[in-house]
Amino acid sequence: MYKNLIGGEWRDGVAVSRNINPSDTRDLIGEYAQADAEQTRLAISAADAAFPAWSLSTPQQRFDILDAVGSEILARRAELGDLLAREEGKTLPEAIGEVVRAGNIFKFFAGEALRPGGELMPSVRPGVGVEITREPIGIVGLITPWNFPIAIPAWKIAPALAFGNCVVFKPAELVPGSAWALAEILSRAGLPAGVFNLVMGRGSEAGQTLLNDPRVAAISFTGSVPTGQKVAAACVARMAKFQLEMGGKNPMIVLDDADLGVAVNAAVNSGFFSTGQRCTASSRLIVTEGIHDRFVAAMVEKMKTLKIDDARKAGTDIGPVVDASQLGQDLDYVGIAQAEGGRLVQGGARVEHSGDGQPGFYMTPALITETTAAMRINREEVFGPVVSVMRAKNYEEALALANDSPFGLAAGIATTSLKHATHFKRHAQAGMVMVNLPTAGVDYHVPFGGRKGSSYGPREQGRHAAEFYTTVKTAYTQA
Ligand code: ADP
Repeated sequence: MYKNLIGGEWRDGVAVSRNINPSDTRDLIGEYAQADAEQTRLAISAADAAFPAWSLSTPQQRFDILDAVGSEILARRAELGDLLAREEGKTLPEAIGEVVRAGNIFKFFAGEALRPGGELMPSVRPGVGVEITREPIGIVGLITPWNFPIAIPAWKIAPALAFGNCVVFKPAELVPGSAWALAEILSRAGLPAGVFNLVMGRGSEAGQTLLNDPRVAAISFTGSVPTGQKVAAACVARMAKFQLEMGGKNPMIVLDDADLGVAVNAAVNSGFFSTGQRCTASSRLIVTEGIHDRFVAAMVEKMKTLKIDDARKAGTDIGPVVDASQLGQDLDYVGIAQAEGGRLVQGGARVEHSGDGQPGFYMTPALITETTAAMRINREEVFGPVVSVMRAKNYEEALALANDSPFGLAAGIATTSLKHATHFKRHAQAGMVMVNLPTAGVDYHVPFGGRKGSSYGPREQGRHAAEFYTTVKTAYTQA
């Protein structure tokens, strides 16, 4: 039984959750303790007690701890990657890549702990000096989704601790294994008791308790739009700071002058890899007339070569969908798109069993052509390997279609035209823009986030993470 970490002690929960392998549902990964509201409040109390001392810890202390955590994650990449692939269903190389990313994030924020900086300015008044510094905000509640079980926790926990905050971390119900492993590493890294707490539990109970408790100064949330709206409402009601990363319906434009191989690789990667379960996935391909038919034919050829199988098997390109309900949603959207007039040209079917007959949540990646902007398939996030294609007359129409979305996380273009690439970088209504690259798969040392319905609040990752995890103080001194 894997327990919760509260005030430096491993504690039983009030219930148990079973972690099941989506590649093979006969495989029970482990049983994880579930915290209720009262245990979550205990964790908040522990963080509250630890904060005064931790907020004054030295940069060296924080560097040493975060650097050690990063080193251990990197050294254990194969084992942690295997656990991640086993519980989430992305392929082993992708899972190991995610673990490496998490390790690098801890290393990056170890360095940031040493570089807090500040500004020194003369006052407009004679004889007065002004210092502008950043201070920790207090207890931060971190609520994460299932699709990046270690990288998203890392990119919230590492900056929170680097800047002197205390953490109560509630991972997603479906993937407690990677979260627990990360917490176990943190528990041995030299943090004082209560600085970091793990509460595995239901969103509606453990999560909601974090949202409502007045001692939690800030909430960083990644997940769905409806839950993000609940987070926002609860935080506004008690004036807590919050940051939301939610969905995407990311466009990728393919222009007539694109290199066909580059365009197909970028679209297949960002549409289907990690089973399409990335908020930065390209789910809307907007293709100009002159290349449309060649591009679709090349996509279909490439998709036929993708091997859909157990996430941990060598040679697998696409693992399973994360669970039965997500698989149902993905297949429903294939049907919805067809009912709206879309043409299913490849995939979109349940694969009952992977190669050797094991039960898992497999489907073939779907490509749906002849879709239009108003269709649900082009407006709502599916969060699976389901990609639609729209035709555009020219670049200008393609740009308008790309921006015609309630979301604005990432946007891509495949083109050899400097003029169109430059124009697109400036005019795409998205937080992240990619030229001749997949929209998914971003660096760990630069800001991550979107605009419109995708995100709210300051950016995550890179130096910009300080905006959320610190508060600014302006001090005046009369000499
Ligand atoms: P996803 O299904 O993509 O993970 P969700 O928004 O359902 O998206 O979940 C994201 C995270 O939010 C999970 O950790 C979940 O437990 C948590 N959560 C769900 N409901 C609430 C809630 N009412 N309050 C706080 N957290 C919640």
